[in-house]
Amino acid sequence: MVRFTVLASGSRGNCTVLCGGRTRILVDAGLSCRELFRRMKLAGEEPATLNAIVITHEHQDHVNGLAVTARKLGIPVYFTEGTYRAWMRWLSPRRQMSYAQWLEMVRKQAAERRAEPESEALENDPPDELNQDEPGESAVENSVQTAQASSNPDSDPGPDPAPAPDPSSGRQPLVKDDPTWLPAVEYFQAGQPFSIGDICLNPFTIPHDAADPVGFVFSSEGVRLGFATDLGYIPPNVREQLRDLDLLLLESNHDLEMLRDGPYPWSVKQRVLSRVGHLSNDAASQFLAADYDGQAAYIILGHLSENNNLPELARVAAERALLGRASLLANRLLLAAQHEPLSAISF
Ligand SMILES: [Zn+2]
Ligand SMILES: [Zn+2]
Repeated sequence: MVRFTVLASGSRGNCTVLCGGRTRILVDAGLSCRELFRRMKLAGEEPATLNAIVITHEHQDHVNGLAVTARKLGIPVYFTEGTYRAWMRWLSPRRQMSYAQWLEMVRKQAAERRAEPESEALENDPPDELNQDEPGESAVENSVQTAQASSNPDSDPGPDPAPAPDPSSGRQPLVKDDPTWLPAVEYFQAGQPFSIGDICLNPFTIPHDAADPVGFVFSSEGVRLGFATDLGYIPPNVREQLRDLDLLLLESNHDLEMLRDGPYPWSVKQRVLSRVGHLSNDAASQFLAADYDGQAAYIILGHLSENNNLPELARVAAERALLGRASLLANRLLLAAQHEPLSAISF
């Protein structure tokens, strides 16, 4: 059985559970760990059964609860190297890090993980604590917010490295001292399919203002699911990927008029509208009308802006684009919401 459950979608947090065969993965962890577990239970999913977390890109609405969730569950996190590096830089107290410093940090953390059996007690929370608040979480979130508010994630490394801890002291830093510590890190690359248990993942590059953002086609048990949010437009490589799907989650971020007349400052409007911003209702509809092959049983519109869109506008635009192709068997149109999970879709 393949099951796809969007727990949250939008600029305040993105998170989806995908089950295929005996494998369960979380795609993005943009809710706090506590909220993420609450919504999983609401949707009938058990957090303790997750096998891995996969990250599309390092923006806060996709990684907010990442470190805490991965630590609580003791599961690996899959990133592209560029995304991992950007995420670490944002959480790092020194904020800016040269490539050499980053490599050194990764090496140190890998060594710590190898030494883990000795320090296991630090990390392994008993399962009955899954629902309890973790004091470290708000610190991690605050740290993300501070870093994002005050630094350009893609700026050049500055000349300001903080002194590294003395390696000769022999003392491992406490896990909670290091907001970037994860139980295990795995890399993947756009364009190179890989597997996690019974789920095959095919990551592809998307145009978005992050370090190395990706969308995915997931497949398991012959079911193919496309996942494309946070993209400024749909380039040919993405069009190619979003074919022959059983389910498509597609961004329908804003209504162009609402965005133009809305409350955002001009610079933010420019960013959203740009080729590395977000997909408008019009752009999503254009894809559905002109390029989409009409094969999916379900189309889910996601990442709707709360300020610059209305669910009905997104829905009407997509319905019009599907030109009566929607039926009980094909092209059923659903809208993913920010504040509650979408009912699980099973194949
Ligand atoms: Zn986003
Ligand atoms: Zn983003």
